Amino acid sequence: MKKIILSLVIIVFLSLNAVSQTFCETSSYSPNKDLFVNTDRIPNHQYYIDYMPYSFCVKIYVHVIRRDDGTGGQSVSNVNDALGYLDDAYNPYNIFFDLNGIIHYIDDTYLYNSPSSIMNPNNTQYDHQNGIDIYLFDDFVNHPISGNGYGMASGVGDNPTKLMVTGSFGANNEYPLVRSHVLSHEMGHVLNLWHTHHGTVTETGDPDQCPEFVDGSNSDICGDYIIDTPADPGLGFNVDTSTCEWLGSGIDQNGEPYEPDELNLMSYSHPTCLTHITYRQARRVKTAMALVEHLQWVSTYTHSGNPCDPASLNYYPNSADDKLNLDLRNKPNNTYQYYLYDNYSVQILSGESVNVIETINTLTLDEGVYFLHFYDNGELVIKQIVITH
Ligand SMILES: [Zn+2]
Repeated sequence: MKKIILSLVIIVFLSLNAVSQTFCETSSYSPNKDLFVNTDRIPNHQYYIDYMPYSFCVKIYVHVIRRDDGTGGQSVSNVNDALGYLDDAYNPYNIFFDLNGIIHYIDDTYLYNSPSSIMNPNNTQYDHQNGIDIYLFDDFVNHPISGNGYGMASGVGDNPTKLMVTGSFGANNEYPLVRSHVLSHEMGHVLNLWHTHHGTVTETGDPDQCPEFVDGSNSDICGDYIIDTPADPGLGFNVDTSTCEWLGSGIDQNGEPYEPDELNLMSYSHPTCLTHITYRQARRVKTAMALVEHLQWVSTYTHSGNPCDPASLNYYPNSADDKLNLDLRNKPNNTYQYYLYDNYSVQILSGESVNVIETINTLTLDEGVYFLHFYDNGELVIKQIVITH
């Protein structure tokens, strides 16, 4: 049933956008809305855990779609430029992407000419469960329905974790979207971000949306459910391309004039004006990766170092309550020894693990500071662990 609804949503979206160009066709449906709305900023709530101090690694798979004869698509340098936009947007918040240097080519003229069909719920043959699949089409493919170019994700934080970007933007196709922050925008949807105008502009897919007030008084339960993004009336791409200033005007229900953030990645600003996500948007992304099961599958996180670096030791949470996880999946294949010492250098426990997520039971340990000793190919790495119950 869900697949049928999603298909209908995609069809409705494509039809609605037939008259004016947009760069995004993603539905605002999210299976995780209850996890975040009206809970994100309540200190005593179980979901208040602050994941901002952690660094995250997101595994990605890049697919370039070409014609049957291998022509068209994107060059290696274009793909690298495209991934540079992701880094620009997310690295400042210690969110990194791991491609492993492999570009997968799909030579299929039918798919090349029908980019949106890769998002069809039945079309999962190239998808991965342990990474986000990024489907990159040609700069010059003109979709017969939605026009010059656009991106699309499965929904907001929805499964499967995939997105696509095709074509170009502008009256003369002068802005290729694969090499723009539209890629980062679609990644934002995959990682549980709504449009900043969500709810202020009614969008398909979310049954209980509502307009955000300029004064921010309802920003946790309306709009994009993020409190540090200003109310956005829907920029509609009506932005001065040189100054990035919104050329429209309007007031909210309280009579306050809108002052939107035209540089926000999740707005409908001009593609060349999209620049950043806010601190709270980054926190939403990290919280979603930590809590939502299908986003856990595509990401790892750690309290120290870059989790995409196979040389680093990934462990969480810290502080720990009943369990401490060692994520050894990214490390070279080996059997790894570990020991836990208390604050008096007394060994409390020891174990060994191959390349899996090793879960250490800490339920019976007294609260306090401990030291994890980990032998990484003969080299001792020590991490301070706090146990709190
Ligand atoms: Zn979008």
